[in-house]
This record gives sequence, structure tokens and C-alpha cells, in this order.
Amino acid sequence: MSEADFHPRYRSDGDIVLLSLDGVKFRVHSAILVISSDFFRQMFELPQPSSTAGTPVQMDEESTLLAILLDLVYPRGSLPIINDIDVVRRVANVAEKFEMSRALNTLSAIVRIEQTNKEINEDTYPPLDTYAVACQHRWMEVMEDASRRTLAYSVKELVDIFLRRPVEEKKLDLKAEDMLRLIDMHERRKKQIIDGVSPYLLQKHGHTISTCSCIEDDFLAYNTDDHALSDQLDMLTTVLQGEVGLELMDSTDAMNLKDNSFWDSESLKRVWKHKCVKCGRPLINKDKYIGAVRQTIDEAIDTVIFSVDRSDTGDRSDTDE
Ligand SMILES: [Zn+2]
Repeated sequence: MSEADFHPRYRSDGDIVLLSLDGVKFRVHSAILVISSDFFRQMFELPQPSSTAGTPVQMDEESTLLAILLDLVYPRGSLPIINDIDVVRRVANVAEKFEMSRALNTLSAIVRIEQTNKEINEDTYPPLDTYAVACQHRWMEVMEDASRRTLAYSVKELVDIFLRRPVEEKKLDLKAEDMLRLIDMHERRKKQIIDGVSPYLLQKHGHTISTCSCIEDDFLAYNTDDHALSDQLDMLTTVLQGEVGLELMDSTDAMNLKDNSFWDSESLKRVWKHKCVKCGRPLINKDKYIGAVRQTIDEAIDTVIFSVDRSDTGDRSDTDE
């Protein structure tokens, strides 16, 4: 057996040899495989015929995947760097096959770290692909982080990516129910933002958005017979919610709404010019209003999160026992 055939990290120690699909040998410790894989534990518990002693165990996996899988379970102190969600997907599938739950946990931790890295390349960890891999293995935190990252896309863009996915390559292997759950999160956030730009609701939640104090003075009168101010507010709300709703069709993260240029648009000028029926001053103070809306958006981003039914994981952990 030539040393040149061995993987450089797995050639010196160990009592058994694994042979990858592409002919690379890995000298490994059966004890490590036994504690990290239910599959290998059961395999090594079976009595081995003496004629096979010393014969490499033929594996169905490529050496690149086997090396990462072993790196995940060998106690080396540093986690392997995986800068491609597709590699994560394939390694995770092998880990599932060999029933390596710790390797799967470690993989999910690696994806979490990669994903929170602001420098992350959208090509190496596209949010929808990352979400799909996380859904497949029910990595809840990764699902939540990835679902937030999808907010930079419109629902239409996400659906297009989903429909064009190469099913035969098993890439973006995403169940329709998980896709619907994601769309639902987008829609709930849009609704919260659209509700949140209503001058009436902003005022109700304690923001001062008016130039004059008439709204505040009359605020409690909203339900009385004097509808003059509330009618004005309703009309302005219709205009504002319409423009904001259109904007949210392009992306759900509402980044444009935090930008002044959106509020400077021609279609919104009439809102800022609109005069209070009581005192004749502009009813809405543009700067105060935009400040309040920015807070609303931040709140929507923080509070409307992707929620998964955590009982989804129940089946798997139950059957493990
Ligand atoms: Zn007024």
C-alpha cells in the first residue's frame, strides 16, 4: 500500500483504512468512528471475517467529502472551513446516511458562523439555498438566520428561484411547505410595516408626527362626532400605505424606506403639503414622521421573525431513542 495514496491528514495513525470512491485512502481510528456514528458502531459490532482484516473499507463517497466528514468528528480543536453551501449540503447528506448526529450539529454551527459573517459572499451561501439545507436537517437557528437574509429579495424573486431550481441535481431541495412558511414570514412583515406607516397608528403608539398639536389635542376625539381630522388622516394613510406597499413588492427588507429619496418622491409631496383643517399648518411633519417610520421598520425586522413549529424536530429525536 503506497503512502502516496493516503490523504495527507489521515495517513499515520489508526487501525482501519477507508477507501474513497476516487481511490484515496484514509487511515482512521475505528474508536472515533464508533463514537461518532451509529452506522459504524453497528458495523464494527458485527464479527469481521478474518480474511477481510486489513482490507480497506470501500466507501461510496468522494475523498473531498470524506475528508470534511472526518474533520468534523476528529478532535483537532479547529472547525473545518467550508465556503460553499453546496458542499455543506453534500457532507450533511453523508452524515445523515452514517447517522452522525454530532457531525450534523457541528455543520449547523459552521453554517451559522459563516452566515453571520457580514463579508459573506452571496454566491457561496445564497440565502434560499442555505435555508433549504437548514430545512432539510431542521437546523432551527440556521433556518431563522437564512430566512432573514431572504428579505433582501422580493417574494416574486424567491418564487422564481424556487421554480427554476435544478430538481434533478437535488440542489435547493426545498419542500413546498417550507417555501410557503418563508413567504408567510415575508407577508407578515410587509403587513406590519404597512400598518406601521399609518400616521394615526404612529400617533397612537406615542410618536409625535404632526407639525401642529391639533392631532394630539383631538386624538381622543377620533371616535366622536368630529371627524374632520380623522378623515384627513385616513386619506393621508391611504396614500402613504399605497406607496409603501408598492415599494415592498420589490424587496421585503424595507431598506429603501429608510432612505430619504423614497419620501422625497413626487407622489408623496401632497402628503407633506397637506394642511391641518384646524390650524392651517402642515398636518404631518415629514422629518418626525420618517423618524417614527424608521423605528417601526426596525421593530418589524426584530419582532416579525420566521417562526418554526419546534415540534417538527420531535419526531426525529424520538426515533433516535
Ligand atoms: Zn393643526
